[in-house]
Amino acid sequence: MTMRAHDLDGGVPVPQQERLQTLNEISRVLASMLDLRTLYDTIYEQIGRVMDASQFFIALHQSGQPTFDVPYLREDGKLGLDDTAPYGDNVTSLVIAQGSALIYGTAEEYEEYERGHGLSEGLVGEQTSESGIFVPLNTGSRTIGALTVQTMRRHAYTEEDMGMLSVIASQAAVAIENARLYAESQEAVRRTQAILHVARTISGSLDLATVLDSILTGMRDVLPFYLAAVLLPDHAGEYLEIAGRIGPPDGRGHETIKISIGEGVTGRVFQTGEPMVVPDVRSSTDYVSDGSGHVRSELAVPLRRGENVVGVLNIERQEVNGFSQDDLNLLSLFASQAAIAIENARLFRELRNRVSDLQTIQSVVQQLTPVHEIPAIASVINLELKTLIDYHSWRLFIVDPDGQALVPISIHGPLSDRRLTVGEGVTGWIAQYGQSVLIDNLLHDPRSAHIAGTPSRPESMIGAPLLYEGSVRGAITLSKLGVRQFDQNSLRLLEIVAAQMAIAFDRAHLYQELRAEAITDPLTSLYNRRYLSERYVEERSRALRNQHTLAAMMVDIDKFKHVNDTYGHDAGDLVLQDLARIIRTTVRAEDIVARYGGEEFCILLPEIPPDDAVQLGSRLRDVIEQHDMPNAAGVQRITVSVGIALLRPGDDTMEVFARADQAMYRVKRAGGNRVCLDNGGDVSMVG
Ligand code: GH3
Ligand code: MG
Ligand code: MG
Repeated sequence: MTMRAHDLDGGVPVPQQERLQTLNEISRVLASMLDLRTLYDTIYEQIGRVMDASQFFIALHQSGQPTFDVPYLREDGKLGLDDTAPYGDNVTSLVIAQGSALIYGTAEEYEEYERGHGLSEGLVGEQTSESGIFVPLNTGSRTIGALTVQTMRRHAYTEEDMGMLSVIASQAAVAIENARLYAESQEAVRRTQAILHVARTISGSLDLATVLDSILTGMRDVLPFYLAAVLLPDHAGEYLEIAGRIGPPDGRGHETIKISIGEGVTGRVFQTGEPMVVPDVRSSTDYVSDGSGHVRSELAVPLRRGENVVGVLNIERQEVNGFSQDDLNLLSLFASQAAIAIENARLFRELRNRVSDLQTIQSVVQQLTPVHEIPAIASVINLELKTLIDYHSWRLFIVDPDGQALVPISIHGPLSDRRLTVGEGVTGWIAQYGQSVLIDNLLHDPRSAHIAGTPSRPESMIGAPLLYEGSVRGAITLSKLGVRQFDQNSLRLLEIVAAQMAIAFDRAHLYQELRAEAITDPLTSLYNRRYLSERYVEERSRALRNQHTLAAMMVDIDKFKHVNDTYGHDAGDLVLQDLARIIRTTVRAEDIVARYGGEEFCILLPEIPPDDAVQLGSRLRDVIEQHDMPNAAGVQRITVSVGIALLRPGDDTMEVFARADQAMYRVKRAGGNRVCLDNGGDVSMVG
């Protein structure tokens, strides 16, 4: 039993023609083979064609490692994969370490070799052998492992076989090396593709939940995990919340988890901005369980946007020590993608919000254009503002004409609706300084005036002045229970709306002034005939609809021409003004008094019983007759003729005025200073 180690540097035995052909074929096949498993199969099969390979294995060793791998083993055809054995005092290790081949013809020879080199018995696989060959897998620059054929037959191999096997082994070594590189590059390509896919998804979708979900799904392909989650801070920045998560279908509990910033693994990563690995969660006090009990190790990396940490990417595995430096690098790569996704989604959301805000503001402006009453303006704005800003209560004040007080216009909510002086409370402050406010908690704001007896609860407020042409026209405040309920964005929107409101109020004032001019008689300040006609149309349809009475009363000064002729036109004007005042103060508040013509007045009397109308006409005639005119009027006393007509359902539109006029003329014909009633069929003197 001789055990001989052969140094192959001395030369390779010249193979026979057919063996050369086999070798060429092997080298061609091996060179094109990039899948490791197929490659091992091929090496085994090719060798089996030229020598006894009833026992066969490939050993691979990385320098410095305490073990070598046996990725491929055959014993009588039976396949074994991915075994390991200690690297050290055994034949395989020695062949690898020395880069030299070994052939033995008997078991005794082999054992002697072991003894001679001080090796201990090392058995790879299950079978022992009688004869065999070990050759190093040498790529030309280094030995990456060894390859062996063995058999239960004694003296089964020749020197020639060993030479042949050495050549095949060096071909195999290069092929194995290539295939490994390829696998690595394939892995790199796969990773790159996964990341590219994620990047494409990000630009393809701007919905944050969708993007995060596809990042996590993409991650699973190259970085397997039991569960993974993206955590983002809540609105107030107090907690981390799960924004996206994938895990086992039976996973539970996590969706609603809130992690305080600074606590737990993810909370700490968010606070410090440093990644964190937990090799075994059972011995970590930081680990926040998902409730399944399946998780053993955890890896969390920060999501960064510039200097800021905006969230945390977290993955968990079921193995203890489940994460390597490679995993950390890869997860960091995904984290940078996720951070971009979050940023994009946030920008997009802001943009979308801004567009819809602008649309709302535009719609506010459009809706306000035809509205000329301040309460109507207020209710349009309250309605629209609700779609822009979330608030519980609103208060709208306008500065009264003397500029000292704030008059409540529209108050929604539990707050007081009394008048304020400029400078009083937050609203007064806004009006005084013409500046807006953003108050996180009213309880801590020295400007807020607490109403005695009301329970103090934290409340947030924003407020803006109604500024127009450089002066404060009013102030609006919005409030909501809770701390920090508003942000700069909502304040900005309120300022824009407040400016629109100020414009609308100004326009409303202007409109009301113009409108008042348009319907008022300038000499007497009574309504003019145009307004009387407008109001009559309204009052008539209301009277007919509700079956109420409606009366028209004509009042004409007797012999007024004489006043003008005697005392002059200005004196006549004074008489007209004085008379207008007397009529106004004599009739009911709801009666509409208009100057109908030169010295003729008309009073519209809604819902008046016919007797009351007659009584009113008589009293008016009487009051006027008794009244002393001012000295400047020249004339001391005047009298009037009064004609009253009651609306009849069948009347033509303006017929009641004509009948009242006719009744009045009847008085004139009778000498004036009396009252005549047309009650619908009967015309009679009544006073
Ligand atoms: P009768 O008793 O029939 O009503 O006689 P009368 O003089 O009041 O009636 P008539 O219609 O003949 O004259 C109306 C006068 O009223 C004519 C006009 O000079 C005068 N008058 C109309 N408008 C004004 C005005 O704005 N100011 C003044 N001072 N006089 C006016
Ligand atoms: Mg007259
Ligand atoms: Mg007249």
